[in-house]
Amino acid sequence: MSEDAMPMPNQILATPLNELHADISGIPGFEHVGPGLSLQAILETVEQAPVAISITDIRANILYVNSAFENLTGYTRDEICGKNESLLSCNTTPLEVYRDLWRTIQSGKVWRGTLVNRTKTGESYLAELNIAPVLDAGRRITNFLGMHRDISTLHQLEQELKHQKVLSETILDLAPTIVVLLDSEHNVLLDNQAYKQLKASFGDTEPAHLFLEALADRLDGGDAFGGFNDAQVRFDAPNGAECWFTVSGIHVDELDHAAQNYFKAGNDAENGHYLLLVATDITTRKAEAERARIQQLKVQIAEQELTQSIRETLSGAIFQLETPINVIQAALAMSHSSPEALYPILRQVLDSSLRALDAMRRVLPKAEQERRFLVNINQILKDLLVISTDRLLSVGAVVDWKPEPVLPTITGSESSLRRMFHYLLDNALLSLEEAGRRNPELRIHTSVKDDAIWVEITDNGVGIPAKQRLKVFEPFQSGWKRGRGKAGMGLSMAQEIVNSHGGGIRIDPDYASGCRFLVNLPIRYSSEAEA
Ligand code: FAD
Repeated sequence: MSEDAMPMPNQILATPLNELHADISGIPGFEHVGPGLSLQAILETVEQAPVAISITDIRANILYVNSAFENLTGYTRDEICGKNESLLSCNTTPLEVYRDLWRTIQSGKVWRGTLVNRTKTGESYLAELNIAPVLDAGRRITNFLGMHRDISTLHQLEQELKHQKVLSETILDLAPTIVVLLDSEHNVLLDNQAYKQLKASFGDTEPAHLFLEALADRLDGGDAFGGFNDAQVRFDAPNGAECWFTVSGIHVDELDHAAQNYFKAGNDAENGHYLLLVATDITTRKAEAERARIQQLKVQIAEQELTQSIRETLSGAIFQLETPINVIQAALAMSHSSPEALYPILRQVLDSSLRALDAMRRVLPKAEQERRFLVNINQILKDLLVISTDRLLSVGAVVDWKPEPVLPTITGSESSLRRMFHYLLDNALLSLEEAGRRNPELRIHTSVKDDAIWVEITDNGVGIPAKQRLKVFEPFQSGWKRGRGKAGMGLSMAQEIVNSHGGGIRIDPDYASGCRFLVNLPIRYSSEAEA
């Protein structure tokens, strides 16, 4: 090509690249350039790119910077071209980072990393860098291309986020309440010290799963993601101890990283839910409340026993008095044939006896009229066993307590039903005491059959002879050798209470090793009474 035919540099720049095919076809990526792209357009693209670009020789001496580079660093291209990139160093980046940078780019690979830079005015900033070697056709490094952006604000936000996380974790850890965050698969995402301690005491079991199991019944469809407040849950720890907690749950939308949901907002995105559980261990508080309740029951039962023994004594005395009074009344009726003097004496005796009888009837404590509520028979029996612990221990009785796991409640008078079972339990213990066996046993079973609750109270004590099995339900029948002043009213009262609940009580004729009382309390009768 002659000198005249040589195109001017400006002309070369403006010529579409595909027309300069012979010159560019050796450059990878430029083989298939279409019409419309000139060298100038490519240079303009680099110049106007919104990221700081620099091109250096192989020692990092700057040959070119674009305008974004000027804006970011504060250096004009006149000031910086010919200088080394190290001019930008803030001298706080560890040497090892630079060594890694150079090792990487000199081996022909791209280095990505963060350096601490400073601007012309001395302000430091965090530079996220990509440095790529530029290779010639012979795969030799001819230059380096550096691209960097200021990530100081991003870093600041990240640091603040980390700080917030540390702060929240510290606060959570200091909180005495148990806090645990679960994902929709019930995996633990976050927990605090109180939760960790609970978990340690539970061995391998995840306490959060026990919370969810215990809550499943009361939450819609067994799903704990509805949110709830101060639900009381009870479950057994792996060591068998009964644990009580109040638990609140709040559901939080799960973070959605999926790219396809980027433009979906709010309800459009089908996110899962996190569940934040906040729980307080109330086992000790519950145990104290339970102790107080049992104590109160003991007092109530002792008061009832006292009133009952007064009633029994007075009723017995009235019963005893009624017989001679009846005789006197009969004698008076026949007084025509009696000597004259006998009539006034008999009259006097009768009047004073009737006055005494009347006085006794008036002081006789009235049987309580009790209101009826929903009653849990298992709970009553369990309470009585707890109350009778000392006596059971002194008798040395082995207790076989088998409650029906799910026993329907009945509507009834809780205190009279408790009194009724207390008579039966008291009798069983007296019977065991009198028998003085080596292996005293008390069995209490509850079950549901034929729309009724059945309670069996069995002891292997002295037993009741067959001919006495009906008679014992009559008033003033006491056969105890060590009855401690018992008037023999217990079973007749028990029968009265069972009857008032529409049920029945009898002694099992087929049980010969002691005594078995069978009590049935209809469930339907109770519902009708309630209605
Ligand atoms: P130096 O003594 O220059 O380097 C520290 C260590 O780096 C040396 O001990 C050595 O292990 C290694 N090293 C340095 N130069 C070479 C070399 N030519 N060959 C082999 N190993 C070498 N640095 C920044 O701080 N900020 C930037 O924005 C920046 N951008 C760059 C862009 C490009 C395209 C390139 C190629 C480099 C860039 N550098 C940048 C790195 C810069 O050139 C310096 O290496 C760095 O700033 C450290 O300079 P220094 O004077 O503190 O120590």
